[in-house]
Amino acid sequence: MAGTFPSPARKRWFARKLLQWYARHGRDLPWRHTRDPYRVLVSEMMLQQTQVSRVIPKYREWMRKYPSWGVLAKAPVRQVRDTWYPLGYNVRPIRLREIARTVTRKYAGRLPDTKPELLALKGIGRYTAGALLTFAYGKREPILDTNVRRVLHRVFFGNRPVTDRVLWDLSAAVLPRRQPYDFNQALMDLGATVCTARAPACPGCPMRPSCRAYPLFSPA
Ligand code: SF4
Repeated sequence: MAGTFPSPARKRWFARKLLQWYARHGRDLPWRHTRDPYRVLVSEMMLQQTQVSRVIPKYREWMRKYPSWGVLAKAPVRQVRDTWYPLGYNVRPIRLREIARTVTRKYAGRLPDTKPELLALKGIGRYTAGALLTFAYGKREPILDTNVRRVLHRVFFGNRPVTDRVLWDLSAAVLPRRQPYDFNQALMDLGATVCTARAPACPGCPMRPSCRAYPLFSPA
């Protein structure tokens, strides 16, 4: 990894451009109006491999039905699974309910705010732990999901193959000291709405002047 980290000037440029873009184009999503760890976790679990447009109505329904750890912990498994339908990948609601039971029994209704404790909960991996620490607790933690991976890869490496380990290091390296919440949300939004997998909208992308992949995707 040595020698591949961006220079301090490039990191500053990247963060500034990304945050400027996010201030104008960031998506207004229901879970961005809360810092409640329960709500943040529900949204993150729902968003795994599921499109935002499908998650929004289900998130609202879920919150009406299970507004807290305590209510979810007591809900019958079958009802929880039925409520989750049709999001799919049905182990998610079961794990969510298990986490709710652990939080109420072991942590007195408060989700832990350290990475080791979060990672010890079944269903919370490295990405979700980073998202919780940043989006619920305002900590400076890197994230790497499909969208973030694609943006960082393209901007800093172009078409060079690169491992997830390098991208995790990069995600930590570019994360600014201030506004980690906005920065990480912005990374995800840029990947979801501009730097998409099949049809990246390079002409309107704030990263274009510095993107190593840009010539690859520029119109013929
Ligand atoms: S310039 Fe194109 S490839 Fe590069 S980050 Fe923007 S959308 Fe993605």
